[in-house]
Parts: sequence; structure tokens; C-alpha cells
Amino acid sequence: MTITREAVLNQLRKVNDPELFKDIVTLGMVKEVVVDGNDVALTVELTTPACPLKDVIERDVKQALADIGVGEVRLTLTAQTRGAEKKQGALPQVKNIIAVGAGKGGVGKSTVAVNLAVGLQRAGAAVGLMDGDIYGPSLPTMLGIKGQTPTVIDTDSGRKIRPLLVHGLYAITIGSLVEPEKPLIWRGPMAHAALKQLLLDNTHWPELDYLIVDLPPGTGDVPLTLCQIVQVTGAVVVATPQQVAIDDASRAVRMFQQLGAPVLGVVENMSCFVAPDGSEHDIFGRGGAKGMAETMGLPFLGEIPMFPELRINSDAGKPHANFEHNVRLRQSLESLVGRLAGEVSRANANLTSTAPKLEVE
Ligand code: ADP
Repeated sequence: MTITREAVLNQLRKVNDPELFKDIVTLGMVKEVVVDGNDVALTVELTTPACPLKDVIERDVKQALADIGVGEVRLTLTAQTRGAEKKQGALPQVKNIIAVGAGKGGVGKSTVAVNLAVGLQRAGAAVGLMDGDIYGPSLPTMLGIKGQTPTVIDTDSGRKIRPLLVHGLYAITIGSLVEPEKPLIWRGPMAHAALKQLLLDNTHWPELDYLIVDLPPGTGDVPLTLCQIVQVTGAVVVATPQQVAIDDASRAVRMFQQLGAPVLGVVENMSCFVAPDGSEHDIFGRGGAKGMAETMGLPFLGEIPMFPELRINSDAGKPHANFEHNVRLRQSLESLVGRLAGEVSRANANLTSTAPKLEVE
């Protein structure tokens, strides 16, 4: 059979994106096809650089083309993060705003927010991180930016704060803008105004694939404000496995759903303790948050065991170290990042999270 561009495209219509359940031609992912005799060069554009299933797509494309007698396949994989539809005027340069929330404090919400941001950045995405936890900002410590104040620049829409570029992330935290150690006591309207200024009015965000917003724990004013002023792609809910944490986490899930922010998934933090000899010890009732996700019909993004390094690196403001030394820690974080990126792509393709899911370990 003579290889033609049409034959190649027809064949690629048989290759489905394993998370989006549509073929890669219909999804607009096939960008360039050059046929040279029996050989084919093509580019496939993934919907996120953190795509966890790029190997599957590569294998399926090559197999499909081999099936029609293509000789050499020169496949280039690129990525262009897809974004959510935007409310008029609200941060058009930011493709996806992802809220990270929790039912209660101390469950590792900020830790997850920071490591999701760093993991997406390491995969090649342009990422911003905002401390929306205006009552108890953790980012100055976790990013090692205590005492650093962002610069103010003149823009077309007035004087604005330029986020700090730190660890490859564009970060803004209320901790840089108020006196350290001073208690932050906000009444509802003040919290609303502070978040709006930080996110919309006063910050000059660059073009971003993902903006991760670390919210205060619980179901207060800040999540409400966030969902009112911008179109949030979705929320991640962090929980520890014990029942008391799960009860509060389910309330946080219901809150996001009521606010119209799809819950992209649940993270089980501190799922167990991994001893230096590699043995795993159940402390809080491993599987509790996973069970909650299943009961509520939500995607489960994964678990993070308790790792002393994670706490040490967080306190030292060195988040990349979490991806560099301890293999178990790196794998659990990278798996979380990949699953979140997949859920974001699915949300943007208007696919519900109840669609059948491919499990890749
Ligand atoms: P939250 O934002 O929910 O209040 P943090 O992210 O600030 O919680 O985490 C609380 C503390 O627990 C921090 O000192 C953090 O370093 C530590 N921590 C969080 N998750 C883990 C984990 N999986 N292993 C070890 N320490 C953790």
C-alpha cells in the first residue's frame, strides 16, 4: 500500500488518548505529518507536558503506523497545556487555576501545593504558586523566601507586583507583603479584598500553564472569593487518613462542588510511615482518604507517605530536593503530578471524572 498523508491520518484516528478517550486526530493533537516514501515524520502535541501516558501514546502511534506498512516513524512529542474557558477578563494569561484545599489544618495542604507546583514545573510547564492561605502563609518558609519582597513594576494597567521567580516558579505570598510574626486577623470582607488584590488587581502574572493556589483550610470566605472572581479549573483536596480528617475533607469537597469548582481529585497525605529499612507502618489508618474518594465518586490522585526528608526540605525551603534524593518520595510526588495533569486535561475536554479510568502503576 502506498503511504499517503490521508492514510496516516485515517490510521491515527484509531489511536485514542488514554485519558481523554478520544482519538488524537479529533483532539487536534496531530500537528505535522510528512510522508517520505515509506517513512513518516510527525509531531504529536500532548495536552500537558506532565502527561503520565506519553509512552503509551508513543507506542500506540508507532504500532498503528506499522500496521499499514510504514517503515521508519520519526515521532516528535511536544506539549501545549490546554486551558479552561475563562470568565471575561479574569487572568486570560493563566490557562489553569487549581485550588488546593483541605478540611483542616496541618494535613499537608501547603506541602502538596508546593510539590505539585514544583513537579509540574519540572515536567516543563510554566507554573505560578500563590499563597491564598492568608491567615497562615507557609510559602515564605517552604520556598525559602522569608524576608524577600517582590518588586513593583509599571504596567499598562498601573503599578503591579511582580511575583518572585524562585525554584523556577512564579510565587506570590501574603507573607512577603505584611510584617512577619504579625497575626493576620481578617474579617470576611477584608479576606475577600486581600485575596482579590493578591490574585487579580495587584499582581502582574506572566503567561502560565498552571497557577496553584494554596487555600486556607476549611470552608471559609477565601475559597468562596476565589471561585467568584476567577474561573477555577478545579480543586485538589488533601486529607490524612484518619476519620476525623476525612469528615472535614468531605465537607471541603462538598463546598467546592457547591461553588462550581470540579474536584479534580483527593490526595492522601501521611498515608503511612516508611522506615529507613523500607518497611511500611500504618499510623493513621492508611486508605481512609482513598476510600472517601471512591465513596464520593472522585478521582484519587495518590498517596504520600510520611517522609522525614519532606518535612526537612520544606523547613529548609528546598522543594526540588524532594524530587532528587529519596526514590520513594520522588515517585509518589511524580505520580501525583501526572495524575493531576491528566485530570486537568480531562476537565478541559469536558470529560467527567466518572469516565472509566486507566490505571497505570
Ligand atoms: P497544612 O498546609 O495542611 O497546614 P503543611 O503542609 O504546612 O500543612 O504541613 C504541616 C507539617 O507537616 C509541615 O511541617 C510539613 O513539612 C509536614 N508534612 C506534611 N506532609 C508530610 C509528609 N508526608 N511527611 C513528612 N512531613 C510532612
